Amino acid sequence: MDIFSFGVHFTDEKSCRLHFKEQRDKQGVVCKRCGCTDHYWLINKWSYQCKSCSSRTSLRSGTIMESSKLSFLVWYKTIFLMSTTKKGFSSKEIQRQLGLKRYEPVWAMVHKLRRAMGDRDDRYTLEGMIEMDEGYFTIEASEQAHKTQKAGRGSKTKSNVMIMAESTILEDIETGKVDRQCRYFKAKVLEDHKADGTDQSFKDAIDDEQTIIFTDKSTSYVNIADYVEIHMTEKSNEQTTKETLKWVHIAISNAKRNFAGTYHKIKKKYLQLYLNEFVYKLNRRYFGERIFDRLIIASITANGH
Ligand SMILES: [Zn+2]
Repeated sequence: MDIFSFGVHFTDEKSCRLHFKEQRDKQGVVCKRCGCTDHYWLINKWSYQCKSCSSRTSLRSGTIMESSKLSFLVWYKTIFLMSTTKKGFSSKEIQRQLGLKRYEPVWAMVHKLRRAMGDRDDRYTLEGMIEMDEGYFTIEASEQAHKTQKAGRGSKTKSNVMIMAESTILEDIETGKVDRQCRYFKAKVLEDHKADGTDQSFKDAIDDEQTIIFTDKSTSYVNIADYVEIHMTEKSNEQTTKETLKWVHIAISNAKRNFAGTYHKIKKKYLQLYLNEFVYKLNRRYFGERIFDRLIIASITANGH
């Protein structure tokens, strides 16, 4: 979807609603009261009516837009902006681009979309050979840190993020040169490590049966080998950065550059949401214009709270 075809397809509120309904019908509507999946469409009320218990479900109800007062057109424009550029937009910039008066609803909408992106990616686990490392992302120091360290407002600190990349080793038959090709990525803000040294988000991220994890020796995970088939560690040096952990390091530096260029400041509690957007787009880097439709589908299947 480029800006010209967006302008042709989504001219007003009605065209967005019709498109949303068409996509929602494909996903299927489930009655909240009785679980029935057969509905009538009440054209004048923009609502579904359950064939079994007559309970009504509005077009927004049960989707990401459920509790939002913003129009479908505003949501569509935002989904368009967020999905078209690799770089992304801050909520402030989206508010400006859309000419909206109030910031808070825009901020809430954008964060819900970022949450939906994360939910979507959480449905998949990584498999095969996986590079893993930790990256330290700059965030705003907490209120607590402001008080205790007498640090000024706007002072910075770092948050630890686990990054993983599915990475396949390919050997060029002609030259014998070995290279690593990447597929899917994950990025999770690390909370305190559990006593066994393995974070739940690590376990959730992998298809544990036949996974081979590559890390350097400095990783704070001690028991990875208990959860995967093989855990390979290498001493961190220039070669590891360029070869064994190539893609994970590229992803970390791209994410950092992206955040520094796009967002004024990032609070720790929202860091995961920014990572969600970055990884969602990274994982769909070959989708081209289809990423817009995918994000609409993610909005339909995500819940709005
Ligand atoms: Zn029903």
